[in-house]
Amino acid sequence: MNNTIQIVRGMHDLIPNDVVKWTYIENILKKILINHCYDEIRLPIIEKEILFKKSIGTITDVVEKEMYSFKDKSENKICLRPEGTAGCVRAVLDHSLIFKKKQRLWYIGPMFRYERPQRGRYRQFFQLGVEVFGYLEPEIDLEIILLNLNWWKKLNIDEYLTLEINTIGSIEDRMVYQKELMKFLMKNKSNLDQQSKDRLFKNPFRILDSKNKNIQELLLNGPKLFNFLNKNSIFRFNLFCKLLDLIKVKYTINNNLVRGLDYYNDTVFEWKYKVSNMSQNTICAGGRYDNLVKKIGNYSSPAIGCAIGMERLISLYSLISKKSNFFIKKNDLFIAFLYPNLYLESLKLSRKIREIFTNVKILLEITHSIKKKYLRKANKLNSKIFIFITSKNIKKKTILTKDLKKKVDFKFSESELLLFLKEVFI
Ligand code: ATP
Ligand code: MG
Repeated sequence: MNNTIQIVRGMHDLIPNDVVKWTYIENILKKILINHCYDEIRLPIIEKEILFKKSIGTITDVVEKEMYSFKDKSENKICLRPEGTAGCVRAVLDHSLIFKKKQRLWYIGPMFRYERPQRGRYRQFFQLGVEVFGYLEPEIDLEIILLNLNWWKKLNIDEYLTLEINTIGSIEDRMVYQKELMKFLMKNKSNLDQQSKDRLFKNPFRILDSKNKNIQELLLNGPKLFNFLNKNSIFRFNLFCKLLDLIKVKYTINNNLVRGLDYYNDTVFEWKYKVSNMSQNTICAGGRYDNLVKKIGNYSSPAIGCAIGMERLISLYSLISKKSNFFIKKNDLFIAFLYPNLYLESLKLSRKIREIFTNVKILLEITHSIKKKYLRKANKLNSKIFIFITSKNIKKKTILTKDLKKKVDFKFSESELLLFLKEVFI
């Protein structure tokens, strides 16, 4: 019997080599965010369950089936956040960040949804999200799209991504449309798959988003949301498209694009990639949510946001990027010693060097052994410099040093060693 405790289903570890790749990509994304004047916000993973019920909507997949909800020891109903927007809205209200003020914010962190795990779909996954508060103008929709595009360009993946946009109007428009859609779907009920049948009475709007080709064909003959939209939403959408055209951003209008969460209105969008055998192909999705702030707090503010699914972005990047040499730089300087009584001397030296050379990776091997063994190890780790401490050399006040790249041996005094290291590392 295998007694090893396994990872929980749907979770995944990022081992050090993965972290190097993640950090590289995160840094690129962060630089662009700073470049566009977005400020980072850090939010808790646990929120009150009611926050998501109120914002995402109780009849959505996320709230109905996917929430990690539980009661804490004081019987409070809390949950692991399934997304970042609602928590961000709660926080900006809590801290009065949006009262008569505009905000451009971003965050990164794990989200939790009890879904069926598959490639690109996990129960814990990371999102990098962006939320902007205070602007109604379609120019802000454009700003977010351009920010996204700059990310993809910097990562050299822009050619593999397509932008799909849609407008879903106001809640009132959707209520009227939903009735017509229901009539149509009821007439064609025998042609619906089980998932769509399940959604029929709960949230028929979501059937538009079905990934089943037969359903999509059926919908071609159904009522179109676009024909039910109010004039202002259409005007706004046309303006948004015109702006995209003006600066030559490529996009397609997908009138069946709806989002999985209830709070969106008007502009919605998704960045998708077309790579064979990858079914989870949306890497970034977002839209406007002008009514959400009022729903959560006692204040009204227009808002728009989007979120990248980091695992999907990174797997796409790995698939198409030419940069594959993500390895950990093991260390620059390897210090070892011959006998146990030399540990303190070695520690003293390593502390001194670490204090001066703060950017250098210095490894002090804490178990003693013969020089040959550690020299081999230092070479294996690709160290630049090797230092070996012996009693004999301590007596003589010298330090055995080897430049592993040039293959040259030295016997330095401490001050000579520091000068030498300066030459090598600074
Ligand atoms: P999907 O239709 O793929 O379920 P969604 O509409 O539920 O996506 P959002 O809530 O808009 O997704 O989340 C934004 C992004 O987060 C998605 O486009 C995707 O890249 C990523 N994402 C969502 N759920 C998961 C998951 N379970 N595992 C990994 N990434 C996810
Ligand atoms: Mg989903």
